[in-house]
Amino acid sequence: MSLDPCPPVEAIHVLEMSLDRSAVSSAPGYGSVLATTSFGPPVLQHWCVWLEPSDHQAPDRWERRWTLALETALSVWEEVLPITRVKSPNRAHIQILQRRPPRRRIGSQWRASNGRSRLQVVEVQRLGQWRLEPRVEVLVSPELRASVLEATAVHELGHAFGIWGHSPQPDDVMAIHQNQNPVLKLSKRDRVTLNWLYQRITDFGQLIKTNPK
Ligand SMILES: [Zn+2]
Repeated sequence: MSLDPCPPVEAIHVLEMSLDRSAVSSAPGYGSVLATTSFGPPVLQHWCVWLEPSDHQAPDRWERRWTLALETALSVWEEVLPITRVKSPNRAHIQILQRRPPRRRIGSQWRASNGRSRLQVVEVQRLGQWRLEPRVEVLVSPELRASVLEATAVHELGHAFGIWGHSPQPDDVMAIHQNQNPVLKLSKRDRVTLNWLYQRITDFGQLIKTNPK
């Protein structure tokens, strides 16, 4: 067993993939609405996460607030998932950036969002061995009210940790429409859904037998 749970990436190869509606018709919680990949759900038994640090000596009030909100959001997921924080983005499966997501065109309108997560499926070499891994970039805007900032961070991290879909219930962290009070803690339904997801068969985290080109 390796002592370092997050060895640096030595080589990487991005695969073509799409997130598709799962074929599951009934599942605990909101499991049946989650998207998945042809390799199985993009989840790992252990995650390496990099949080973008402030790029200068004296972070201002906004940067400090952003970092605090993201730390708090990570601790919510640390209660239910094994997570190692890494100092270098090169060791991470999930990179969290302090950045406003670019506006997105929906129909004839441009829509702003508070946060966004983007999934790639990659073959990665670490310590000489190739594995299939999810690679997620999470953008969380710093320009948000404190409670919205934290709820956005918890929600986007839920996507990053493999919950690629939304709960129809407003009191779940993965709700698409939340109530007046932002949801800052995992609900029972969030936990049940997560447990189910992590018990599914997946190729993610597995060794790749043949070396990729
Ligand atoms: Zn979402």
